[in-house]
Amino acid sequence: MTPHWDVIVLGAGASGLMCSAQAAYSGNKVLVLDHAPKVAAKIRISGGGKCNFTNVDVSPDHFICQNPHFVKSALSRYPSTAFVELVERHGLAYEIRGGGKYFCAERASDLIQILRTECDWAGVHFQLKTQLESVQYRGGKYFLNTSQGTFCALKLVVATGALSFPKLKSTGIGYELAKQFGLNVIATSPGLVPLTFSDQWQARFSELSGLSMTVCAQVAGRSFTEAMLFTHKGLSGPAILQVSNYWQQGEAIILNTLPAYSETRLYQAFIELKQSGESLSKWLNQFWPKRFTQIWLEVYPMETVLSNVSNERLQHYAKQLTHWMLFPANTAGYDKAEVTLGGVDTDDISSKTFESKQQPNLYFIGEVLDVTGQLGGFNFQWAWASGVACGLAL
Ligand SMILES: Cc1cc2nc3c(=O)[nH]c(=O)nc-3n(C[C@H](O)[C@H](O)[C@H](O)COP(=O)(O)OP(=O)(O)OC[C@H]3O[C@@H](n4cnc5c(N)ncnc54)[C@H](O)[C@@H]3O)c2cc1C
Repeated sequence: MTPHWDVIVLGAGASGLMCSAQAAYSGNKVLVLDHAPKVAAKIRISGGGKCNFTNVDVSPDHFICQNPHFVKSALSRYPSTAFVELVERHGLAYEIRGGGKYFCAERASDLIQILRTECDWAGVHFQLKTQLESVQYRGGKYFLNTSQGTFCALKLVVATGALSFPKLKSTGIGYELAKQFGLNVIATSPGLVPLTFSDQWQARFSELSGLSMTVCAQVAGRSFTEAMLFTHKGLSGPAILQVSNYWQQGEAIILNTLPAYSETRLYQAFIELKQSGESLSKWLNQFWPKRFTQIWLEVYPMETVLSNVSNERLQHYAKQLTHWMLFPANTAGYDKAEVTLGGVDTDDISSKTFESKQQPNLYFIGEVLDVTGQLGGFNFQWAWASGVACGLAL
């Protein structure tokens, strides 16, 4: 006989666990179904194994969504303080790092244990290692045909995440289900992802692979002052991951390689350097790794002693250093992306309940939606907030 549930949550990731616990606490009989052998694989490896689980300062401006108002309701109903209170109740040791980022003090798996405990207390049932074959809607019920038989529920929550990091069992099943039930899906692309150089730039900069320096990276009017890392294929590090969310193929990223200086201040500094007679490379080495100074001066030859350099030329140097224009060839793709831009169109979803506007009792939460956070714990905060809002509505 087909087992009947009030709610089936498809996806035992961050948003799915949060939603399931909430829905079960409200008295629903809830089943979480996932094809992975373990729950919340992304939490386990996130934040270098310590999971950057939220941020002190979360606002709608930290998210990209075609409808910028969509995130407001859920984020205000379940702010980051609410999640911090939850983990404190469970005695999680955490630390707040630069930029207001909350991390587990020990292991990200401690956080998974908290979510698992909440689900156990609420009476959530788990059906892992189960392949979904098809979903049918008949007589006001959802029938999920799977490798372990058919499961039936009055309400179906799609919490299957997105395409990034396929080695952690990510799939586009959520988009397929959305399309099956008539919802629009906005074109997807990798986000929070390293950028690759063209062959010509790769040849010049690959020897800097592993080197990190602080820059201000700018794209499409957004700028981020954080670390940038040279890789053997291009650029990574927080500053680059942040701008990757806003970068379109063919566009330049603009780097201020001396973020403590504006172009005007740098020009003034060069005038002073010209008067002092000190060497430019020695001055740059105060701020840059020596290897970068060396390569920079090979690629963009500059006089080492500025005494005989015209002020016009100094102005040009200041511009070059504060507006280094790079044209990345591409992103490193979904394999290396932390998130996926685009997804289920939020115009088709209620921002209060996360139910489809077209299809009764069908809900979408978390990253499967066209909502992408910046780096800093915002993507997990979206998973918690959308999961709780939906769970309460269920
Ligand atoms: C390497 C990495 C590091 C990250 N670090 C951070 C960080 O520090 N801070 C932060 O805020 N965000 C981080 N993120 C982003 C964050 O992990 C996601 O935004 C978040 O997990 C999304 O939650 P979700 O519930 O929507 O999806 P997920 O957590 O991805 O869960 C989706 C679930 O659906 C299941 N599923 C998928 N397809 C199927 C199917 N066909 N059948 C059954 N089940 C299926 C999966 O197995 C998975 O359990 C990181 C992401 C990656 C890849």
